[in-house]
Amino acid sequence: MSNKNPDDEEISLNNADLEELRRSLRAIVDIRDRQYGFPPKTYGSCFVGSEAVAKLIEKGLAADEDDAVRLGNVMLHAGIFHHVQRAHVFKNEHLFYRFASDEDHGGVPDAVADGSSVKWADFLGILTSTMGADGSLQPTLPEPDADLANMDQIDLEAIGVSPLDEHNARLLDNVHPKRWLDPEPKSYNLVVIGAGAGGLVSAAGAAGVGARVALIESHLLGGDCLNVGCVPSKALLRCARAAAEVRDAGRFGVRIDGEISVDFGYVMERMRRLRAQISPVDSARRYSGPLGVDLFMGRGVFTGKNSIEVNGKTLTFAKAVIATGGTAAIPNIPGLADAPYLTNNSIFNLTELPKRFGVIGAGPIGLEMAQAFQRLGAKVTVFSRDEQILPKEEPEAVAIVKESMIRDGVAFAFNSAFKRIEGKGEKGPVRVVLDDNGTERYLEFDALLIAAGRKPSVAGLGLEQAGVEFDARLGVVVNEKLQTTNPDIYAVGDVAGRYQFTHMADFMARLVIKNALFFGRDKVSELLIPWATYTDPEVAHVGLYEKDLKERNIPFATFKREFSDVDRGIVDGIASGYVKIHVAKGKDRILGATIVGSHAGDMISEITVAMRAGMGLGRLAGVIHPYPTAAEAIRQCGDAYNRERLTPTVKSIFHNLMALRR
Ligand SMILES: Cc1cc2nc3c(=O)[nH]c(=O)nc-3n(C[C@H](O)[C@H](O)[C@H](O)COP(=O)(O)OP(=O)(O)OC[C@H]3O[C@@H](n4cnc5c(N)ncnc54)[C@H](O)[C@@H]3O)c2cc1C
Repeated sequence: MSNKNPDDEEISLNNADLEELRRSLRAIVDIRDRQYGFPPKTYGSCFVGSEAVAKLIEKGLAADEDDAVRLGNVMLHAGIFHHVQRAHVFKNEHLFYRFASDEDHGGVPDAVADGSSVKWADFLGILTSTMGADGSLQPTLPEPDADLANMDQIDLEAIGVSPLDEHNARLLDNVHPKRWLDPEPKSYNLVVIGAGAGGLVSAAGAAGVGARVALIESHLLGGDCLNVGCVPSKALLRCARAAAEVRDAGRFGVRIDGEISVDFGYVMERMRRLRAQISPVDSARRYSGPLGVDLFMGRGVFTGKNSIEVNGKTLTFAKAVIATGGTAAIPNIPGLADAPYLTNNSIFNLTELPKRFGVIGAGPIGLEMAQAFQRLGAKVTVFSRDEQILPKEEPEAVAIVKESMIRDGVAFAFNSAFKRIEGKGEKGPVRVVLDDNGTERYLEFDALLIAAGRKPSVAGLGLEQAGVEFDARLGVVVNEKLQTTNPDIYAVGDVAGRYQFTHMADFMARLVIKNALFFGRDKVSELLIPWATYTDPEVAHVGLYEKDLKERNIPFATFKREFSDVDRGIVDGIASGYVKIHVAKGKDRILGATIVGSHAGDMISEITVAMRAGMGLGRLAGVIHPYPTAAEAIRQCGDAYNRERLTPTVKSIFHNLMALRR
């Protein structure tokens, strides 16, 4: 029998050898009930790892400590004994192990099949018992116990998710199990680095068509979108909308007497609960189980053109996908590095509302969070280096969003010349010092969010060894097929794309599966990508903007309908927002559209479907829409298009026909 040592070289032992070893070890170690953990639990019939090592050497069964640990791991791997909490490697440390034959003692549930033997939830009892008397959800971590010195303490900073309440514990059990035993590496059809939207879809899709796939994640499965992006931000925005609706209820004759307040702690807890609720879809258990992917939890680094190393093991591949995403870009403002600032990585850990909230950056992320925090009760200031907000969107749409945010109470500091940022320690206040025509202007905040753009994660990936060209600002260089300069390696998502959206990463991944595994020739430029910014009102867009059409000299006509002219908009009391659709001049072909309104993100799909299906605006006019809905604005643009299409001759024929019928 060959027993693979999980740590290093292979040791060959037959069953008789193993049985001999088992008997020898049992005879020399001290087996008794012991206490372990925080708070202490009693585990029956245990022996101590470090004592076992010492005894193996003392009795001449092992030459030295390394040898003893190696033997221990062989026995562990062969199922002769387990760590009391299962699946813990055998170490030359003060950890408790139990022989399989003594297994019915103990009282700790069996390890789950995915290798996650120590659950984050196991720590809940400990953490909730240490909550402050003020009821804050922010836990104070227990001091490490001497007995537990060898057990990894919960490193919240490294994991980056807090507070460790029941929701975050559930999230982490799904997306970053406390312990994970990597599978034995094989040679793979596809290795995927990064388990955000792009990596997960690449891995699941490839495994689904029969490929042998490895997925490597260094931090949290689900990437930014689930953990620190789309999901938590949209959960906060929903609460912010509720707050605004209550504030504005008087417009609808709803009088609210007494004080109205937002319970920020509840808002954040709700977000954590919903994020945890969504997390099983991206979980380690699902990927390594039903989806059949080999999941490695660690940092992947290319070591050659067709090899990658993770946790000291080398994986070889026919094809690979880089899906390492990006992180918040930190602007070069003096003092910022030492000041306590938030990014999307930390903002969702807040448990208390910062009363004065500064946001550097006026793109979608900055504006969504600015509006949310203002509506939840903070006093928000948004800084922009120029006069623009949402620089991608058309000015008319931007003006409506800006007006709405100003109405909410958000202050904008345009053309901000940052002199420095002042602030120390882990918490605010933090001061933004501006150069106001030669004099210094100070603005003080309890928290400062940096949302000044994104930086692709390309550093330390070994891209040079793999022959993959990249740029620190623009990310991995890819061709139309999303192939990098190494033809066996592809890149998807934020690390390789200008369109940094979850749905874009998803569809890039689908394209790569075809191109990498099935000789596909799909091109990224053929994708039609809608997007939305989820401020109130939302701004959604697909296709070309007016300025693109002008720059490219494409003749076009524009059809626009204000929601304030649509019956649904009128009864809903909508004062601004519109549907605007550009059509090729003389052809019934939609070239682009922008919608500004409360459900613009949902509504844009109708136009996207039409564009994909080659359905013109004239034909959209023939699609029956329920009355009264906001989407009627789209059909009414179609009506306007059809009316304009009637040539003077056709109009006069109709006119004469009607006259005859009177
Ligand atoms: C606040 C916020 C709100 C957003 N809202 C929306 C929205 O509403 N709609 C929308 O479409 N998009 C939204 N986005 C953008 C969206 O989150 C990203 O476009 C999407 O997450 C990109 O997916 P990805 O797979 O490219 O990268 P990521 O999600 O960043 O995943 C990359 C993964 O790779 C891992 N990794 C990196 N290096 C290594 C390595 N060497 N080894 C192993 N693993 C590694 C990382 O840990 C990470 O888990 C938002 C983003 C933010 C920040």
